[in-house]
Amino acid sequence: MSHLFPRHTKANLPTAVGGDGCYLIDSTGKRYFDGSGGAAVSCLGHSDAAVIAAVQQQVGQLAFAHTGFMTSEPAEALADLLIANAPGDLDRVYFVSGGSEATEAAIKLARQYFLEKGEPERRHLIARRQSYHGNTLGALAAGGNAWRRQQFDPLLIGVSHIAPCYEYVDRAQGESSFDYGQRAANELEAEILRLGPETVMAFMAEPVVGATSGAVPAVEGYFKRIREICDKYGVLLILDEVMCGMGRTGHLFACDADGVAPDILCIAKGLGAGYQPIGAMLCSRQIYETIEGGSGFFQHGHTYIGHPVATAAGLAVVSQMLERDLVARCAAMGDRLQSALQERFGQHPNIGDIRGRGLFRGIELVRDRDSKTPFDPSLGLAAKIKKAAFEAGLICYPMSGTRDGRNGDHILLAPPFIISEDQIAEVVDKLDVAITQSL
Ligand code: PLP
Repeated sequence: MSHLFPRHTKANLPTAVGGDGCYLIDSTGKRYFDGSGGAAVSCLGHSDAAVIAAVQQQVGQLAFAHTGFMTSEPAEALADLLIANAPGDLDRVYFVSGGSEATEAAIKLARQYFLEKGEPERRHLIARRQSYHGNTLGALAAGGNAWRRQQFDPLLIGVSHIAPCYEYVDRAQGESSFDYGQRAANELEAEILRLGPETVMAFMAEPVVGATSGAVPAVEGYFKRIREICDKYGVLLILDEVMCGMGRTGHLFACDADGVAPDILCIAKGLGAGYQPIGAMLCSRQIYETIEGGSGFFQHGHTYIGHPVATAAGLAVVSQMLERDLVARCAAMGDRLQSALQERFGQHPNIGDIRGRGLFRGIELVRDRDSKTPFDPSLGLAAKIKKAAFEAGLICYPMSGTRDGRNGDHILLAPPFIISEDQIAEVVDKLDVAITQSL
């Protein structure tokens, strides 16, 4: 009997023993196409020779140096490479070990920034419903996913939640996409005014919503309006690109497509591509200079921040993306995946929406297409599809989301950027089998 404490204690999961390109292999030799990149992690596939070599080289040269005493070459090089390609005036990179750590650090940086700036009354964070920002207590409080928060609610800091930008569900009949986006964004202004502008420190959002909604981008103009509102009231804009960043949407940073730059940007998953656990928080020059000119110390150290092997992996991943033009490939293959999904499922009576950007795609399942009525959550449709797909040799990411009192099921796809045309066909075929078996 194993002494491992697994995530699902009642599930008897296979043991992964190998990775080969876009496939994972279990101990019986069965191959699974990794159609969700785990959870949007594996962007280069599971056997990238350059990243493996970089990790091996770094661990042989320098495995660890505590950042309280020393910095390291790969951490400095990766920070420079990220900033050279980052939007707006993002200027500094704080490395952490994953996504929750990145969003948690962002919340604390926002608070410390205003303290050092002499605005201690700024303490409120605003985020959105149907969002996920991580599982540590601060990050969980920021997220709006009721199911994930439920049992820990008494431990969570107060965060205000406004509506997400979810056109398929919330755009009114006769309303243009643009007008809907402005209306959704204006909820932020209303909430800032309700709380008192001088008390609000930051607004946090995912540019393309991942786990809770299934690759939902905002409509044109939404994030520009959000940026305007943040600027008007001196509120920091924190974008959580933990899932949708690092090339996944066909842009190195997802917010590039929205034409906005945040004050703080969180990345993780695709940064290490699964070769090492790593995340990062990028912040503007102004924020950095406020801390540098004040206490000179961000009060948020973790032992493994800026880990040499993790940053060496990140450096190799980003270098591969740039050298092999994989972000453009992701955009092109993403268009093909969208067309293939549209062709197969576009008229399906139980598929209401197929959406996303790049190789970050979502399929919304509905009981009735015309009324957009979701399936009864007691059917456990998402779990059934996940199981049927897995049996067919496809890893995808179906989720039952809880939306403002409504329930719904969606499937998230986020395959590696190296996916081929034949493999797109394989994903669609296997997904078709899983959906047909589960309905
Ligand atoms: N933020 C977003 C948007 C995510 O999708 C996730 C994870 O799925 C996180 C934060 C948390 O990241 P991690 O699981 O690496 O802690």
